[in-house]
Amino acid sequence: MSSIQTVGIVGAGTMGNGIAQACAVSGIRAVMVDISEAAVQKGLAALQSSLERLVKKDKLSAADRDAALARVQGTTDYEALKSADLVIEAATENLELKIKILRQLDGLLPAETLIATNTSSISITQLAAVTARAERFIGMHFFNPVPLMALVEVIRGLQTSDATHDAVRELALRLGKTPVSVRNAPGFVVNRILVPMINEAFFVLAEGVASAEDIDAGMKLGCNHPIGPLALADMIGLDTCLAIMNVYFDEFKDSKYRASPLLKEMVAAGRLGRKSGHGVYAY
Ligand code: NAD
Repeated sequence: MSSIQTVGIVGAGTMGNGIAQACAVSGIRAVMVDISEAAVQKGLAALQSSLERLVKKDKLSAADRDAALARVQGTTDYEALKSADLVIEAATENLELKIKILRQLDGLLPAETLIATNTSSISITQLAAVTARAERFIGMHFFNPVPLMALVEVIRGLQTSDATHDAVRELALRLGKTPVSVRNAPGFVVNRILVPMINEAFFVLAEGVASAEDIDAGMKLGCNHPIGPLALADMIGLDTCLAIMNVYFDEFKDSKYRASPLLKEMVAAGRLGRKSGHGVYAY
């Protein structure tokens, strides 16, 4: 398969505009689609100011910024995606919405176009089955903020072909990322390990083993983590952490994934982390 020249992106939000930026600075054309002109403009503005910050820090020349911007097209017209070799779905995390979008893409795009999803929690195999091209469907899980985070989980559904896997891995490398190959499973690799670790930190806190500050200091200094698990929970959102644990519990039916009662209680109290001004810590 010839290498990917143009990437289509569905959703101009946090992840979509980050993926568009990563493509554009790597010499790859990006066509970014959202539902409203306002959402498209918001995504383009975020991308522009992110590039501007790189110029100010001398990490990108003004000429390279201009060249990158010239490679990005933002539109509400799905037809523009027809020119892409790969379309990455990065819309809101909602199963019904993703099914609707993928059906639309499958009907619109040429048969050879690859489709990827950036979903964090939905089964790649299940989403692939919505299309008539399961062998050309894959998970491409970027991390936030996309321009800074080096990892891409490349997730094969049950029917993903080797050619699709190899093309998407190669694209990740051209974006300056490190791809890891993953078989479809709840949470993939990183969140499967990370979120139960965070959940365990809530058990340790609730049992009075140590204070929140000392738990976080322990994991930072003892494991060389840049941030402690409880402070990280506040960043991710306690509600998101709880929802992810509940997905694992439902999928695996294994009690090792039971959510910490303290985590549940904080969510019930509306202590969701930084976004609500109070989680484990007050902000
Ligand atoms: P976001 O809310 O910032 O952006 C989602 C965008 O999708 C919005 O601009 C919305 O208008 C748009 N959208 C909704 N319906 C659409 C449609 N029919 N067609 C086109 N666009 C549509 O969300 P996000 O944080 O960018 O997350 C996007 C995806 O990436 C989700 O699947 C999420 O699970 C995944 N993800 C998020 C993160 C993260 O940390 N934010 C990390 C990895 C993966």
